Amino acid sequence: KGPDPDLPLIAARLARVKHKILVVSGKGGVGKSTLTAQLAQVLAGGNPDLTVGVMDTDICGPSIPKMLGVENETVHVSGEGWEPVWAGENLAVMSIQFMLPNRDDAVIWRGPKKNGMIKQFLRDVAWGELDFLVVDTPPGTSDEHLSVNTFLKGCGAGFEGAVVVTTPQEVALLDVRKEIDFCRKAGIRVLGLVENMAGFVCPKCRVESEIFKATTGGGKALAKEMGVPFLGSVPLDPRLGMACDYGESFLDSFPDSPACAALKNVVKGL
Ligand code: ADP
Repeated sequence: KGPDPDLPLIAARLARVKHKILVVSGKGGVGKSTLTAQLAQVLAGGNPDLTVGVMDTDICGPSIPKMLGVENETVHVSGEGWEPVWAGENLAVMSIQFMLPNRDDAVIWRGPKKNGMIKQFLRDVAWGELDFLVVDTPPGTSDEHLSVNTFLKGCGAGFEGAVVVTTPQEVALLDVRKEIDFCRKAGIRVLGLVENMAGFVCPKCRVESEIFKATTGGGKALAKEMGVPFLGSVPLDPRLGMACDYGESFLDSFPDSPACAALKNVVKGL
């Protein structure tokens, strides 16, 4: 087999993206997509001169479009390729969700087809010039993660690394360690660990309380143990979950939430 003919095409697309960041997690439900969407919004909201892209490669459970309020959009093809959907002046989104005839359709694909789709995303999406591309990946170290390798090869040197998302309970489990190990073996730099849903922000009194006392500080300790930076803890704020459900901007709607400050800190630490 000769060299993959798609790699130069992917490289050409990605050469126009300054910073590329993967968001990964050991398992589902820890808030990986939520953080992907929020981090992209922090980046885009922080500076209107920046252009940010979000690529949703969680083929089986695409939730980014809903979180960014663009779930009913469809993708258009231009001479340049697949045009991303704009979730704001400077926030572009691409997800398989845009290609499903019905919102509730399940994507039941085997590995090779999923990999093909991710590769097509990398090759064909007409992002144009981007300052940041934040990539939401499927949970775990499954099949599709192999296509992350295509991404890496396509990026050459211009790839920042991965943000690993965990919850305090998961810290006690093996999954997050495995994920960090996977990154290492795949040659992906770990930009840092984010602990999500670490505390609880009471919607009435706005005070944050610890809900998993036994594992308090676990994320930080794990980061130290694994030799990766700790990017901070994002508390559980029901208003964040709601904003995601309604596709509204949490950062604009609830700037007073400690979760907002935490998300901004994560971005500062990248
Ligand atoms: P994953 O991508 O890891 O599967 P999601 O981002 O879909 O997880 O999050 C799972 C659920 O938890 C969603 O309903 C989301 O709104 C909610 N959620 C995630 N993080 C927070 C948070 N910090 N505060 C409140 N709800 C959150």
